[in-house]
Amino acid sequence: METITIRDIKVFVTAPHNINLVVVKVLTSEPELYGLGCATFTWRHKAVVTAIEEYLRPFLIGKNVANIEDIWQSAMGSSYWRNGPVLNNALSGVDEALWDIKGKLAKMPLYDLFGGKCREGIAVYRHADGNSIEEVKEKIRGFMEEGYRYIRCHMGTYGGNFDGTIQQMVHPAGAPAGAYYSPKAYMRSVVGLMEEIRSDIGWDLEIMHDVHERLSLVDTLDFAKEMEAFKLFFLEDCLPPEQYSYFEYLRKQTSTPFAMGELLTNPVEWRTMVQNQWIDFIRCHLSDIGGLTPARKLAAFCEAYQVRTAWHGPNDLSPIGMAAQMHLDYSSPNFGIQEFAGFNEGEEEVFPGCPAVDRGYAYLNGKPGIGVDFDEEKAKKYPCVEMDFSWLYSRLPDGTAVRP
Ligand code: MG
Repeated sequence: METITIRDIKVFVTAPHNINLVVVKVLTSEPELYGLGCATFTWRHKAVVTAIEEYLRPFLIGKNVANIEDIWQSAMGSSYWRNGPVLNNALSGVDEALWDIKGKLAKMPLYDLFGGKCREGIAVYRHADGNSIEEVKEKIRGFMEEGYRYIRCHMGTYGGNFDGTIQQMVHPAGAPAGAYYSPKAYMRSVVGLMEEIRSDIGWDLEIMHDVHERLSLVDTLDFAKEMEAFKLFFLEDCLPPEQYSYFEYLRKQTSTPFAMGELLTNPVEWRTMVQNQWIDFIRCHLSDIGGLTPARKLAAFCEAYQVRTAWHGPNDLSPIGMAAQMHLDYSSPNFGIQEFAGFNEGEEEVFPGCPAVDRGYAYLNGKPGIGVDFDEEKAKKYPCVEMDFSWLYSRLPDGTAVRP
């Protein structure tokens, strides 16, 4: 077969959900053949665009599209310093597009190339959030009526959001603006919320909760033990990546299942946690670790330790990226659950072929490759937006900044 090479690489930014998404299109020496990938690092999207246009594009033009592994390895080493979110996202856009091309050439959806389906539908979970217990319960009931059986339950924003309503929340004079929270008030509020959900809605529901790294180590231990009574499906990101070795102590003292990984960018960060079976679910953001090529290996590595996958799936991920990871969800024996935030009309217009969801299961369309297209003209209707970063500026009551 004649060698097909990379003719050009284009990058697009569009925001149909008011979140800046980065889409990569790899054009080939075959005029009609192209691939699409997700490179969305929404908080630093301009840096990703520059990394692709100024560095990856000239490095990769002319390369054989068949050699995905060699392209991934050599591009990862081409900056010498590596494993950061900007360069990993840039590489992910190209990597997913090359897999899309591989599937189109094989005339197979990627899950078939990856070994075939292990299940016919992908169980997904939704987010129920509200400012009161009643609001959260109403959202849970709405999702359950739509057929969802897995729901992430939250009250207020991450860490609660009870500024001005509780005694401990007194700030020093001159304290800067921020997303203030009180760790102890947050912990109490979640215990109260879970008690209400279990006593009122019952046990025929799998519950997740995301700590989002808002607690100290010892508070995390206390909180995870309190959560045992409510039999969570998992407790998410209860430690920052810099403190993951503390999972060893959590694991020995509580039976609450742990999910971790959306902030990870380097294999060193997950290797020890998985090998020691300190966590139950790996939930990396595919583009932040470099795309499908490393994610396939990570999923297989986790399988050996009975760690299940729960890939990160909020709205700062394009439908192309969501579909890419759903090919792994279909074909990984150790799939656990898929986070899913829903698509709006704008996303469905710009990305024809979005995954469909019915009665709590997601389905891909069976087209070759990733199966989601990108309408460049319609994307122009949704230009880049100024994003609200305020939730990232979290602070303790005395004004101390906390990493989110
Ligand atoms: Mg999370």
